Amino acid sequence: PSILSDRINNLSESATLKMTKLGRELAAKGINVISLSVGEPDFNTPEHVKQAAKQALDDNYTRYSPVPGYPELRKAIVKKLKDENGLDYDVSQIVVSTGAKQSLSNAILTLINPGDEVIIPTPYWVSYSEMVTLAEGQSVFIHTTIDSDFKITPEELEAAITPRTKLFMFSSPCNPTGSVYSRAELESLVRVFEKYPQVYIISDEIYEHINFIGKHESIAQFESIRDRVILINGFSKAFAMTGWRLGYLAADKAIAAANDKLQGQTTSGTCSIAQRAGIVALEQGLDTVLEMKEAFARRRELVYNLLKEIPGVKTNLPQGAFYFFPDISSFFGKKDPQGNAIKDSADLALYLLNEAHVATVGGDSFGNNNYIRLSYAASDESLKEALRRIKEALAKLG
Ligand code: PLP
Repeated sequence: PSILSDRINNLSESATLKMTKLGRELAAKGINVISLSVGEPDFNTPEHVKQAAKQALDDNYTRYSPVPGYPELRKAIVKKLKDENGLDYDVSQIVVSTGAKQSLSNAILTLINPGDEVIIPTPYWVSYSEMVTLAEGQSVFIHTTIDSDFKITPEELEAAITPRTKLFMFSSPCNPTGSVYSRAELESLVRVFEKYPQVYIISDEIYEHINFIGKHESIAQFESIRDRVILINGFSKAFAMTGWRLGYLAADKAIAAANDKLQGQTTSGTCSIAQRAGIVALEQGLDTVLEMKEAFARRRELVYNLLKEIPGVKTNLPQGAFYFFPDISSFFGKKDPQGNAIKDSADLALYLLNEAHVATVGGDSFGNNNYIRLSYAASDESLKEALRRIKEALAKLG
């Protein structure tokens, strides 16, 4: 019998982190591995944010912070939500955390009882369903494909709702597909939520600034369901601050207070220095974000044109984030030069790592086995070389 809890034995290892680890192991052997497996901007944190952290140290912001974050940071977040998203929140509705990942996990733990159902459109970010499992909830998936740009319809949403449904959770722009829901599409989903007042909505907006089709639209902008939306955001992608671990949620007062309580018994307030730097990041605005977005827009074109040329790969043009999620199922059943069969997306990702030395992630861990995820947060040169190697490796399958 295992000494470990059922809770942890039932948890899967994060596939994105696993592929990154395997890639690093190959690289440590001196192999030139191109990593397209991580969800991380390949930019450095802006200079003024780093300066603010140094200043915070000199000013001795080195002690415990309030559990939901410094009031100045929560105020800066309220202002951001108002100015950029047209949303009115009070400071008491904001809880700062150790990354959007913690906010997601906290929100699920504060809302889900054992057996409650959580509707998750596939493909979804790897951790969503595992977080639901940890909370002893039941994930209910709505499957989508590349033919609908991986977006669900109001009919599909309504068909998935049962008396046990407590939550719906999604990201737009989406990781892993880059899909972005338009205002009209969100509105059609809101019409369904209006009919089911027991259903809460987690809206993960961590990629809001990496959107190639226009202004970011938040489902929290719809007044009729506003109190039931738990908005999740953070600093990792917008300000290239993945290692700083700084995120937040905005929600109804009672839900925010519950998250504060949970955090108070687990992690307490996140790193004081990261929080002080976060205030400056928000105050200084979006210039560096917009620069990043321009680079991502250029690379999106580059990868799209190269992917389209690879026989057997079916792709769409994602509208946001920095990922492609092409359909690679035409390779299933084929064999590599050593005679090993490619059965699924995990096999294909492993084949690409070992044969082409390009790290990607199999779609199975995002809930859609027919695809792989490629991150284009890499230099133009690396992307060109990676796509050349992928094309060559795939041509060897027969
Ligand atoms: N949500 C999505 C959709 C993500 O892709 C990520 C990071 O990859 C996160 C949340 C977590 O962000 P953070 O670094 O703020 O924990």
